[in-house]
Amino acid sequence: AAGNTRLQAPTYLQLQGVNKRFGTFTALEQIDLAIRRGEFVCFLGPSGCGKTTLLRIIAGLETQTQGAILQDGRDISVLPPAQRDYGIVFQSYALFPNLSIADNVAYGLVNRKLPRAQVRARVQQLLTLVGLPGSDAKYPAQMSGGQQQRVALARALATSPGLLLLDEPLSALDAIVRVHLRNEIRALQRELGVTTIMVTHDQEEALSVADRIVVMNHGVIEQIGTPTEIYREPASPFVARFIGKVNRLEATAEGDHWFRCGNKRLKGPAGAPLSAGSPAVLYLRPEDRILDALHHDDPALCEGRVRRIEFLGGNCLAEIEVDGIPGQPVQLQYSLNQMDEYRVHLGGRVRFALRTDRLRAFAA
Ligand code: ATP
Repeated sequence: AAGNTRLQAPTYLQLQGVNKRFGTFTALEQIDLAIRRGEFVCFLGPSGCGKTTLLRIIAGLETQTQGAILQDGRDISVLPPAQRDYGIVFQSYALFPNLSIADNVAYGLVNRKLPRAQVRARVQQLLTLVGLPGSDAKYPAQMSGGQQQRVALARALATSPGLLLLDEPLSALDAIVRVHLRNEIRALQRELGVTTIMVTHDQEEALSVADRIVVMNHGVIEQIGTPTEIYREPASPFVARFIGKVNRLEATAEGDHWFRCGNKRLKGPAGAPLSAGSPAVLYLRPEDRILDALHHDDPALCEGRVRRIEFLGGNCLAEIEVDGIPGQPVQLQYSLNQMDEYRVHLGGRVRFALRTDRLRAFAA
């Protein structure tokens, strides 16, 4: 994200103290969020965390119980959907089955009373944009799921909205189409510069497309940050566990950023120190380990036995029972080449050092 100019653009959409209650159930609590012009933001979180509700509130399809929404300086908090400026794509393709592809795409334009020739030209342009030139006369049932979502995207973009809202648009597609289409959506979004919010529960999807990710849990925002920030500097144990693979080690704070874990003493990175004697949890990514040039006096030096190996393609995860840290096996990532080089095999012994500069420590 370095040098990402979208991260310096002015605010386009602002949510201020948005709350949503369904009866006595609080679905969203105190949502404050500023999205910049041209940004691609993902709302990411487990099922039921409130991400769809938040998107629907932005669209005006749901009314917030409290709070304000400003789009491009305009207070849209109480505007009906038709008076807001957005295009939306839903999870289910939601095309009109009895309308041709051209008529589906033109749907939002018809109300604008444009000349027919102009509508036809715009439809051609949009279908080309989403990679489906020449499919005007087809019907939704004649198209694959991925193609239907492209049509839905073309329809959402037809009026050149200021805001593109995507509600799990890829989750009904198979894995290969999903990855392909998400890259295309991202490229298209860049090209058009349209401010975009995508709801997803797929962390890999969010990491790969978003300028910034809003991680949600139980109706609150746990963290807002770039994919790298979210991955490297999770703000809470929930974020650390929800995004990517992570090791969790129970430890005791010893003050001054030192922790005792089993019979090892590890020095965590700077930050607010936990008070000495308090229980802590340490999080460390499987790739945050050192294999070369190990120092005998490094407190983070570990030895252990390989208990399990999981092949992930180019990489493997090896689960290591570390000497001195009983009952808390550590997963380390090795490339296939490193597996050979360091002779990592089931039942074998390995040496490594934990990259304690990458530790994230939280009160237990
Ligand atoms: P999912 O990925 O499963 O759609 P989500 O994060 O999008 O999850 P929401 O659909 O926003 O979650 O729902 C958030 C919470 O609000 C859930 O607990 C849900 O049951 C509740 N909820 C949503 N809509 C309503 C409604 N109309 N009436 C009552 N409760 C609702």
